Amino acid sequence: MRLFRCACEAAFAGSFAAYSPTGAGGASAPVPASGGPVDRSVLEDIAAASRILADQGVVDGFGHVSMRHPNAPDRFFMSRALAPALVTADDIMEFTLDSVACEDKGRSGFLERFIHGQIFKARPDVNAVVHSHSPSVIPFGLVDAPLRAMFHNAAFLSEGVPVFDIFEQFGATDMLVGNNDKGVALARCLGQHSVCLMRAHGSVAVGPSLPMAVFRAVYTEVNARVQTAATLVGGGGRIAGLNGEEAALADAVNLGAGMRAWELWKKRVGAA
Ligand SMILES: [Zn+2]
Repeated sequence: MRLFRCACEAAFAGSFAAYSPTGAGGASAPVPASGGPVDRSVLEDIAAASRILADQGVVDGFGHVSMRHPNAPDRFFMSRALAPALVTADDIMEFTLDSVACEDKGRSGFLERFIHGQIFKARPDVNAVVHSHSPSVIPFGLVDAPLRAMFHNAAFLSEGVPVFDIFEQFGATDMLVGNNDKGVALARCLGQHSVCLMRAHGSVAVGPSLPMAVFRAVYTEVNARVQTAATLVGGGGRIAGLNGEEAALADAVNLGAGMRAWELWKKRVGAA
């Protein structure tokens, strides 16, 4: 049995029965209050993050990024349902942590916005979330070989990467985290980690800031490619990835140096 696959959800199934999802809203439901206005540069950065993830090959026509409201921890921002490469600041919507839109403009949010709301609810230290189906990462959610930190930029993976198997709690589904119950289960599997794989679906990466969540999503994809190459080159033998002490030292550097990549990536998508 692999180390981090989450088999714990069933133990919490009883508590979900009492949970009252409100994500769908309703025709007569009141529109939640906004957490307050933010500088337009905040919305522009979220839109830039979306386009960066597309430019870096982490998302394609699907996938999304969110950011917690800087002045209201119980609200977050993410695009309306739209291909990530097309997102602009005008597409950014505000939601409660139950993923109810704080507007009544008839715009649709992403089906899987519950991923973001429930992670923000469970992790006060997290201020940005990326969900993607990045192709090099998906195999590691299907097999017993764990995703490991292969090099310094991916040091955040050394803490372990859990695998969320939606079937364990919800049986056969469309694989989407399309309601708050599923969002709660995913957030529980993520725990205190930076990345969680989703079996036969994709992954999530989180961070204390928008640039760091994007950095981790990009380097999770790169690390998966490197690990696959190392496995092939080494014929399945030992892979000398980062040890725990090396990873801690490297990740401390990444928290600052990651901004260099952010500035470059913004420029590439015309947002600098
Ligand atoms: Zn998805």
